[in-house]
Amino acid sequence: MATATLRLKRDRDKPVRHRHPWVFSGGVMRIEGTAAPGDVVNVVADNSEWLAYASVNPDANLTARVLSWSRAEPIDDGWLAARITASIQHRRDMGYLAEGGACRLVFGESDGLPGLVVDDYAGSLVMSILTPFMERRRSEIVEALVHELSPGRISERSTDDTREREGLEPVSSTLVGSPADGPVTFMEGECAFVADIGSGQKTGFYLDQRVNRERVAEYASGRDVLNLFSYTGSFGIAALRAGASHVTNVDTSAEALAVGERMARDNAVDGRWESLEGNAFKVLRDYRDEGRRFGMIVIDPPKFASTRAHVEGACRGYKDLSLLGMKLLEPGGILATFSCSGMVTPQLFRQVVAAAAMDCGRDTVLLEKLTQPPDHPILMTFPESEYLKGFIIQAP
Ligand code: SAH
Repeated sequence: MATATLRLKRDRDKPVRHRHPWVFSGGVMRIEGTAAPGDVVNVVADNSEWLAYASVNPDANLTARVLSWSRAEPIDDGWLAARITASIQHRRDMGYLAEGGACRLVFGESDGLPGLVVDDYAGSLVMSILTPFMERRRSEIVEALVHELSPGRISERSTDDTREREGLEPVSSTLVGSPADGPVTFMEGECAFVADIGSGQKTGFYLDQRVNRERVAEYASGRDVLNLFSYTGSFGIAALRAGASHVTNVDTSAEALAVGERMARDNAVDGRWESLEGNAFKVLRDYRDEGRRFGMIVIDPPKFASTRAHVEGACRGYKDLSLLGMKLLEPGGILATFSCSGMVTPQLFRQVVAAAAMDCGRDTVLLEKLTQPPDHPILMTFPESEYLKGFIIQAP
């Protein structure tokens, strides 16, 4: 239950009234009563009107995250389990819980569960806890997941840099079942993928690109593909299975590339597979200087902007990459360029890629606009949740 009251400054109540789930320290007049990180507070307007229940972290710049806009829905003992159940049921209804497949079961604020992410890789669940509120409820979360799905394994990979801003240390452990003795295998359509749940990035794999892998593969047949920021090379596998002639995967992580080599063998495409450990910005420039051209280029960089202050620099990076990518395309070549920064809006990313097209001096055309799949739902009142944007572009 709410232990204290967070009073917003005058004229700073609009976002919460409009069901935006974040309250930043700059909007807080004061916290009345004692509130420790992870406590539940009442959020009220400066005139004391009740607005929401939120989890609070008085030490963080993101001071509160709304848990409920309904006063009749107290954050009591059964609240968390009920939300987790609803979130999983939503995926089940969409047909995403197929045997041997993978999907995101819980996506933070978009599922009304700020600070919690859970992915399912063929019955191995990986959860990520980002806030003190969820940190305190670790065993409750595990219990709810076991009750819903009886998974063979639940691992925790709470390593996101958000935790640092919340004053939490990174945590990696196995909570149910035995630790994975290597990457976990799952199917995505025809592709056999592996998630490195023990030591990989995020929860071990980038499930958010599922639909986009399919879209990109559609254009891949016969093409020589450059897969930049490849991680374990999922776009490369999808492209090769769809008939690409060759894939060069570029990443700074030797570990990710090594897992990719295994994935290429699992999919019997290793004869057309190349791994290059290196900085994508430099690799693009080197290829440009050598006059090298590709039939398809995929650019899927990490999040360049995690706060508003980084947006401008992030856009410079996206423009640089997209421009170099466009320049390296053979006639008729395809570029798939992405941004996964929630702080960069789809409109802004479009402007950036359009500016690159202008500078590259070719009449490129936009074939497809891409986003995140339905198991990473976009909360309409929370623009930051629409974090993944991509364009498939063709050069003349
Ligand atoms: N496309 C991947 C996911 C990309 S995540 C997939 O489909 O699974 C971003 C990747 O960029 C990470 O693997 C990270 O190691 C890598 N990376 C970060 N900075 C880089 C750089 N400057 N050059 C190349 N790779 C980089």
